[in-house]
Amino acid sequence: MEKLIIGSHVSYTKNDGLLKSVKEALSYNANTFMFYTGAPQNTKRSKIDEEKTALAKKLMQENNIDINNVIIHAPYIINLANNKDENKYNFSINFLKQELQRAQILGINKIVLHPGSHVGLGTEKGLNNIINALNIILENKKGPIICLETMAGKGSELGKNFEEIKTIINGINNKERVKVCLDTCHLNDAGYDLTNFDELLDSFDQIIGINKIACIHINDSKNIKSSHKDRHENIGLGTIGFENLIKIIYNEKLKKVPKILETPYVSINNGQDRTYPPYKFEIEMIKNKKINQNLIKDIQNYYKISL
Ligand code: FE
Ligand code: FE
Ligand code: ZN
Repeated sequence: MEKLIIGSHVSYTKNDGLLKSVKEALSYNANTFMFYTGAPQNTKRSKIDEEKTALAKKLMQENNIDINNVIIHAPYIINLANNKDENKYNFSINFLKQELQRAQILGINKIVLHPGSHVGLGTEKGLNNIINALNIILENKKGPIICLETMAGKGSELGKNFEEIKTIINGINNKERVKVCLDTCHLNDAGYDLTNFDELLDSFDQIIGINKIACIHINDSKNIKSSHKDRHENIGLGTIGFENLIKIIYNEKLKKVPKILETPYVSINNGQDRTYPPYKFEIEMIKNKKINQNLIKDIQNYYKISL
């Protein structure tokens, strides 16, 4: 039997880099993970420490984490869809190029990217800008893969349906280097029905091809279908629900695809303004296929939070 490939978003620190990410993933009993190479909202990036990276890779090997399942998320301030400000557009292109180089140094071959927001330019122009940018970034036949994430359609976000993703892929010269990352919260908020995931996959297969799915973000949603909101919720506590998410996670056709949790940190009301990662417990729920009604209590105990 093939093993479930499951992990979560983890941190990557200035000093410890990937080593911090691996240790955090292991603390959640995950066998993969996703991280930003620095703060997601800015483009400050520190030099990669070779020694720490080597240690991180050793730790992955020892714990059966296949680096091919590890994902980098590009910072969300990159916007390839809007070229009104040429400097900003070029900056996004150059930054993503550098991000691919960083990925290569780390030995990671998948980068998840929000396709971009057209901000008033309209869908067609926006999609063309994305295509032009990606053709510059992916000029070589070989190198890390960019996974276009399906978006909720908040504001002028592109990639809110399979057709838009398909249009982008069609325009790329080195098609082997573009794949897709599904996000369950985004799909729901964009208007897709997750109660019949097999049907959704069939439709994806007809439009794009199921072999293009390289990653899935597993999130519940705080909002109803078609809300175009993009607010993630903890597993089982949102409008998608535990049973539907379990069916997606264990879908036979997606066995080899890494599943990544991006659910919100949980706040525990003890007067301290702190939040705690739920991932260890959500991963456990997923492995058991059983919802944990004592999630908050378990988090409280695990992190030794006194009320
Ligand atoms: Fe994302
Ligand atoms: Fe996501
Ligand atoms: Zn999101």
